[in-house]
Amino acid sequence: MAIQRTFSIIKPDATRRNLTGAIVAKFEEAGLRVIAQKRIHLTKMQAGVFYGVHSERPFYDELCEFMSSEPIVVQVLEGENAVARNREVMGATNPSEASEGTIRKEFALSIGENSVHGSDATDTAAVEIAYFFSGLELVG
Ligand code: GDP
Repeated sequence: MAIQRTFSIIKPDATRRNLTGAIVAKFEEAGLRVIAQKRIHLTKMQAGVFYGVHSERPFYDELCEFMSSEPIVVQVLEGENAVARNREVMGATNPSEASEGTIRKEFALSIGENSVHGSDATDTAAVEIAYFFSGLELVG
């Protein structure tokens, strides 16, 4: 199996409730390694660029408001099949549909305030990592 890197965000609903460590533990238990991490506070415009793919969706403005409301933790996760593995550990977008033991099942508040973001493919992971991290910050 291939070693991959993926991009992850611990969202404002989770940082606000002091869940950063509990969520990182879930990734580590799943065999994913945090190889870069920082806590930042996005502007609404920066959140809007990141979520540009959703700009036509009805929840776009609410999503950008939420993602810029409080600090987030952005991170790069590495491991075997990291993109899919991360999505498994995160669980379904809507916490009411998420499987037992997933981050969203345990911690998410709603479909919008759902605690974590994770890249959906290796090509989007590369773009998302490059939006937040320079090469020098990716120490492996
Ligand atoms: P993800 O890949 O599982 O994060 O899901 P999507 O790419 O479909 O959506 C991106 C993010 O937009 C989700 O994680 C939610 O934070 C938010 N979102 C998605 N659907 C809804 C919705 O119906 N209402 C609201 N308020 N937010 C949503």
